[in-house]
Amino acid sequence: MDAKQIVKNEIAKLRSDAINKAQENKLKALSNSHFRSLDKEERLLVLKISKLIAEDKPCGAEQEELIKIQKAKQKELNNLGLTKEDLVPQFSCNACEDTGIINGKYCKCFNEKLQALISSTAEKQYTPLDKLNSVKNAKQAENIEKIKQILQNFVNNPKNYINILLCGKTGVGKTTLAEGLLGSAQKEGKLACELSSFKMNELFTKFHTTFTNEREDYLSPMLSCDYLLIDDLGTEPIKRNITLEYLYLLLSEREKYNKHTIITTNLNLDGILARYGERIFSRISSKKTTLKFYIDGDDLRLS
Ligand SMILES: [Zn+2]
Repeated sequence: MDAKQIVKNEIAKLRSDAINKAQENKLKALSNSHFRSLDKEERLLVLKISKLIAEDKPCGAEQEELIKIQKAKQKELNNLGLTKEDLVPQFSCNACEDTGIINGKYCKCFNEKLQALISSTAEKQYTPLDKLNSVKNAKQAENIEKIKQILQNFVNNPKNYINILLCGKTGVGKTTLAEGLLGSAQKEGKLACELSSFKMNELFTKFHTTFTNEREDYLSPMLSCDYLLIDDLGTEPIKRNITLEYLYLLLSEREKYNKHTIITTNLNLDGILARYGERIFSRISSKKTTLKFYIDGDDLRLS
């Protein structure tokens, strides 16, 4: 099944469970005759008060009576082992009330669930580009600012490029920038996920060695998200018939559907060519489709 559909189903179940639970509790409370009569009294009184208010008449006594009834109702509920909250749906995500969508955009909870399908690492909060801390070294800070700006423009208008390649030594902030891009994309309501190249390789292997319907579950989450970060490419072992074949497939499929892949790596372009061969190299280094950065301490090159 498509990974997005898996997440949609999961969220839909959370929603219907919350609604059913509240409904069940309400029926349980209403089956108690004392609670039922208090509930009826409350409704009639609320109606009466709103009429009095509409007619500009005083309703202080009624208000007081209402508070009394509500307290009695509360007490009766507690006797039944319930609280006021039990009678209204308790959604696991208050932001979207377990619909996964807010104003036509994906809610944070949708992203978290898709990320969980890709990699079981603890859910991550991505800091968007505009909220990233700046670095101390002035020259480096200037470079990072430049990249942040370019990446932000990419999120705002991603039409010109499909992929982003961030090359450079360990510790120059590649992953932070790439995750910042994910954070900014999520802020725009896009689905953005991350996995290490090591984890990616594991999923490829599982896909390759599984022959039941479940095999789709290993690849489909990586194909589903609008933005996918493959972190630290080059640190995974190259497995025969697996790593190169599925990496090529993943990159091609994502490109076909205009989905963006962000890659961070310690390798330079020659290193990528040597390790992954011509076909993958051309997918992730093509001038036409990929925005490339080479960050090396104070040195920044763009192409
Ligand atoms: Zn939500």
